[in-house]
Amino acid sequence: MCIFCKIIQGEIPSYKVYEDGKVLAILDISQATKGHTLVMPKMHYETIFDLNDEITAHLYQVVQKISKHYQTKIPNLKGLNLLNNNLPKAGQTVPHYHVHVIPRYEDDNLVDMQFTDNSQTVDFNNLLNVIKING
Ligand code: AMP
Ligand code: ZN
Repeated sequence: MCIFCKIIQGEIPSYKVYEDGKVLAILDISQATKGHTLVMPKMHYETIFDLNDEITAHLYQVVQKISKHYQTKIPNLKGLNLLNNNLPKAGQTVPHYHVHVIPRYEDDNLVDMQFTDNSQTVDFNNLLNVIKING
C-alpha cells in the first residue's frame, strides 16, 4: 500500500485539514510554507492521467474550498500556489494523486518556478495542429 493510502486508512498519523467521503486534505510534512496542504482522493489514483471526471470535479471543488478558506483564515497570506506533479520527471515522489496548496507570504523564501522564454523556438501553428482539442 502506498504511504498516502496508509494515511487514508489511518495506519500512519497525519494532520487532517478536511475530510469527506471521497477526499482527504492533510498538512504536508515538509511545510514548504506555513499551511502547505495536500489534497488527495481517498481512492488510489497515481496521476492526472488516471483520474475520472467525477473525482476530478469533486477534488478540485475541495481545492477551491480550502483555498478560499485559507484566504480568510490564514494571517498575512499574500498569495497561494496550486501545484500537482505527475510522474517522477515532473517531480512526483509519492505515486498517489495529490494537489499541493501552498500559501504564500511576504518573505517566505520559497523558490518560484521560473518560466524560460522559448517562444522563438516554437512553431505555434504546428503545435496547435498536434495538440488542439474540441471543447
Ligand atoms: P510530490 O513530490 O509532489 O509527490 O509531493 C509529495 C509530498 O508528500 C512532499 O511534499 C512530502 O513532503 C509529502 N509527504 C511525504 N510523506 C508525508 C507524510 N507522511 N505526511 C504528510 N506529507 C508527506
Ligand atoms: Zn495510494
